[in-house]
Amino acid sequence: MEKTITKSTCRNCHGGCGTLVTKENDKVIEVTGDPDHPINAGKLCVKAGQVSIDQLYHPDRVNSPLIRTGERGAGEWREASWDEALSYVAKKLNSYKENFGAESVVFARGVGMNNQHIISRVANLFGTPNLASISYVCYATRVAVTQATATGTFAGKIWDTVAVADLCGEPKCIVEWGSQKRTSNDHGLIGFKFLTDALKSKPMHIVVDPRKPASAGPTDIWLPIRPSTDAAMALGWINLIIEEELYDHEFVNGYTHGFHELRERAKAYTLKKVSEITWCDPELIAHAARNYAKTKPACILWGNGLDHGGLNAFQSSRAVICLMGLTGNIDNKGGNVFFPAPKLNYPDLKEKLGSTQELKRLGGQRFKALNRAGFAHPPTVFQTILSEKPYPVKALVCVGSNLVTTYPNTRKVIEALKKLDLLVVHDMFMTPTAQIADVVLPACGNLERDEPRLHLHIKGPKGTYLDTVSTKLAQVGLRKSDWEFMIELGQKLGFSEYFPSLKEMSDEALKPSGIDWDQLKELGQLELPLEYEKYKKDGFGTPSGKFEFLSNQLKTWGYDPLPNHTEPSESPISTPELYKEFPLILITGIKESNYYHSQGRQISTLRKISPEPRVDIHYKTASSLGISHNDKVCIETPNGKLVMKASIVENMLPQVVCIPHGWWIPERAGPDHGVMDVCANVLIDDNPDNCDPYFGSSPLKGILCRLTLNGK
Ligand code: SF4
Repeated sequence: MEKTITKSTCRNCHGGCGTLVTKENDKVIEVTGDPDHPINAGKLCVKAGQVSIDQLYHPDRVNSPLIRTGERGAGEWREASWDEALSYVAKKLNSYKENFGAESVVFARGVGMNNQHIISRVANLFGTPNLASISYVCYATRVAVTQATATGTFAGKIWDTVAVADLCGEPKCIVEWGSQKRTSNDHGLIGFKFLTDALKSKPMHIVVDPRKPASAGPTDIWLPIRPSTDAAMALGWINLIIEEELYDHEFVNGYTHGFHELRERAKAYTLKKVSEITWCDPELIAHAARNYAKTKPACILWGNGLDHGGLNAFQSSRAVICLMGLTGNIDNKGGNVFFPAPKLNYPDLKEKLGSTQELKRLGGQRFKALNRAGFAHPPTVFQTILSEKPYPVKALVCVGSNLVTTYPNTRKVIEALKKLDLLVVHDMFMTPTAQIADVVLPACGNLERDEPRLHLHIKGPKGTYLDTVSTKLAQVGLRKSDWEFMIELGQKLGFSEYFPSLKEMSDEALKPSGIDWDQLKELGQLELPLEYEKYKKDGFGTPSGKFEFLSNQLKTWGYDPLPNHTEPSESPISTPELYKEFPLILITGIKESNYYHSQGRQISTLRKISPEPRVDIHYKTASSLGISHNDKVCIETPNGKLVMKASIVENMLPQVVCIPHGWWIPERAGPDHGVMDVCANVLIDDNPDNCDPYFGSSPLKGILCRLTLNGK
């Protein structure tokens, strides 16, 4: 029995850790960390290793295209070939286009799995502006903020899209702001190793978060902030730093735009006022602000905690990036830096859409920063399916996205999906979304796909690494990768000239980097070295060429060009009557480190770690309500209720209640698989009026709730 060992890349999250994959008799038998890999140096997280193999050969995987034969959701299907399934889908999509306009077809994708550019290509050629993405509450807000403040036209072309904490640059102060970097990977920076290493030299460690999870490790200052008031906190820091002359005069005078206006705006955010808004101690706020400003270099890890702030989502990140610029901690060693962007031909073909179709993007005229990112507004899409206003939506093609569990107002999402004429789902498992589809297509996962990475390029000690996305080491059933699906659908829709083979498309995408697909696979990674203070020679990519405290882009769009704070849509202050009924504050969207969003609940080793979702309650609150550890508790918001077992915790603001994200129970009966009992989004409001005015982000945190024991 011959064994082979292949170097690969893990793709059980955004991906990037190097792996060694052992095969015996054409079967994958072991996945271990690659000790020579620059990102993970041999380590793998709990989601990889044996879990990759369990997922690859899981008996519940979808292995063949399925076409619905019974009632929607009845679980009656017949197997089909890819050719038949895609011919059926393409014929229907083209008929909707002819009868209702191309905008009547929506494409949807989930977390950034390297498929967005290829999906955009199909959507743009087909002529629909409606690509819905979960990015509207995850990461893309920070991309849009960075673009409006600093990267502008450089974003994704010469600089990466977000100012990323330079953990390998020996920061002396590390601020974790709404981010748990040791258990997460955003901005393409896989946090565990680099943050753990950086903390060994004992930098000043500040956490701004309603919770301080154990994974944060020892901290010097913890600001247990009231959820969704981050913009006020950052403006308070800005005010103190300016008043006490702690800002970086050289950077501010030489390279920024709008300092005077920022100073005037921040004046209102005195320590007293900020303390009242954020519920944090004013002396502690001042202590944190002074330490961040005085300890050079300092970096900020900014995360989903900011993206989920509803009305404040965009402006929280705006205020935080302004802090980076104010203190000169931008693009400096150990600060927040712009990693180099690989040179790529992105395959989107944006110009094919045309301005008439672009104007029809759902939510596009209202949420202008989201529109610029090329996304429709998901809650508006679901609303439009139901109302048929301003036009009917007939079909939705969903690639790697469990829409039912991941978008707000679960009941409405299900209702909208059921109303469609055609729902197509490409996924690995029969999720609650796939269960109510008309056509289900089998998707490849980790170890089954071959593509160059065009998104979320991995960052490491020396720079950006252009690498591959997994490596195709197995073919099980008729599964196809997202790229293969989109290429074949593009061909069936009549755009064959734009969809040659996977190899030709990969070669074309890589051409500006002077490397072809086979060479990149051989090499593993192409290292692009990080340079600091590039703005000294290039300026910034903004209209003024400077770091814009006052954003010209936002001004052009008619938005407030300066950072500001808005009271959350539900709160003791904005809705005092509601607060009497719902006296606690809920945060959802919490990631469990053993799961990747809504994935992994079928994998028994992962379920042993976290068998069911639990509600975190502060011990003082629990005691006042007579709740003990493991008691069943009803969590109720104005939108719905769930029952979960209680976990009693200490390191959390007592007024806060916290539940995890992405849950469904695969072993429960379909089509819902228990979503109405376990999915956090049952509790979340989808009203566009309560979404961020710039990016449309829904309020996943800072919602009023109440708890009762045993649901009584
Ligand atoms: S962090 Fe992501 S890429 Fe790395 S081992 Fe875990 S799942 Fe794989």
